[in-house]
Amino acid sequence: MNMSDTAAPIAMAAPQARRSRQARIVWGSRVVTVGGDAPVRVQSMTNTDTVDAIGTAIQVKELAQAGSEFVRITVNTPEAAAAVPYIREQLDRMGQDVPLVGDFHYNGHRLLTEFPDCAQALSKYRINPGNVGKGDKRDRQFGQMIEAAMRWDKAVRIGVNWGSLDQELLAQLMDANGRRSAPWDARQVMYEALITSAIESARRAEAMGLSGDQIILSCKVSGVQDLIAVYRELARRCDYALHLGLTEAGMGTKGIVASTTALSILLQEGIGDTIRVSLTPQPGEARTQEVVVASEILQSLGMRAFVPSVTACPGCGRTTSTTFQELAKQIDDYLRAQMPVWRKQYPGVERLKVAVMGCIVNGPGESKHADIGISLPGTGEAPAAPVFIDGEKAMTLRGEHIAQEFQTIVENYIARRFGDAREVVL
Ligand code: SF4
Repeated sequence: MNMSDTAAPIAMAAPQARRSRQARIVWGSRVVTVGGDAPVRVQSMTNTDTVDAIGTAIQVKELAQAGSEFVRITVNTPEAAAAVPYIREQLDRMGQDVPLVGDFHYNGHRLLTEFPDCAQALSKYRINPGNVGKGDKRDRQFGQMIEAAMRWDKAVRIGVNWGSLDQELLAQLMDANGRRSAPWDARQVMYEALITSAIESARRAEAMGLSGDQIILSCKVSGVQDLIAVYRELARRCDYALHLGLTEAGMGTKGIVASTTALSILLQEGIGDTIRVSLTPQPGEARTQEVVVASEILQSLGMRAFVPSVTACPGCGRTTSTTFQELAKQIDDYLRAQMPVWRKQYPGVERLKVAVMGCIVNGPGESKHADIGISLPGTGEAPAAPVFIDGEKAMTLRGEHIAQEFQTIVENYIARRFGDAREVVL
């Protein structure tokens, strides 16, 4: 086959440059930036009762160790507000410097005023403009929260949600729409209300003196196409850093697929500076699943690397045993479990690529593309598993302990390439 000299090479697809300005989140002597050219960051939220300071601190730690870079906690009562400084203290004691975000609705103005230790211990306040009060109380109570943010030098996320949209604003926009010669449909008015609520609230906060680089906006809805439409327009109308998430995404596969679809499209367009995947945990499922999914979205798009990736084939009629599935899972679980330690011990290990393949068809080829790969024997193949390291066949494993031996080879490779740890003897 001839390839013309004038043919242009096909460029790899890449996310567009982000459009937001940078925001800073300060707590103590630490600063984290979001937006602009900062990495897109992963956020999560606890589902413990915040009053249970120990239980909440433990879950925050689990979320942080899974890769969450901000953790939001509910602050809904005086007791919860009183617990916040203890949660921060416990986290500091456990060596977890993850920033805490306080989620306020209805009474945030009072809690942030009456519990200054809470206001100080949090790194960011989430304010929902639809839930700050009605009538003339709305601006006053919103103002009290912004004053607290300015007093303690905290960032705020002005987080609008279509489930709690400012009804007075929506009614005004509906009235105005009714006077149009060609009225929009109700959904378009709702989009407009979400965006207007977020941007007008941000402008009000800036007018009070809060710096624009301490404001992050979000407009969450639960439909994929709605979210894409709203965020495209929000990003077009302002340059505040944006927090992105499909609200109430749901359970299991449905929630994962819907969140991934919506977030991936927007992130590829350069929209979104922090993300959260709002999954309803299956009974018995770890809360950290939402962090795993959010991290995987960013890693799959090539925007961040959080954990070594394991490429595994789906299996087919050429492999009738579950050996390679078990090995792929074992290696994946092992790599994830090690990351809290390896992140510090082996900088760069998160970019490692491991392949676990089921037979000779694609096994050797895919394994050569990985840093380390193993091609297990398919049905009818000789019971031997060639291991490839940096694209070269390095050894062949046989017998009953292939899984353990391969894990040791991976450990040794990581120690050699990313640190000076002692080699484990096979
Ligand atoms: S590598 Fe082999 S076992 Fe895996 S999907 Fe391809 S043909 Fe099937």
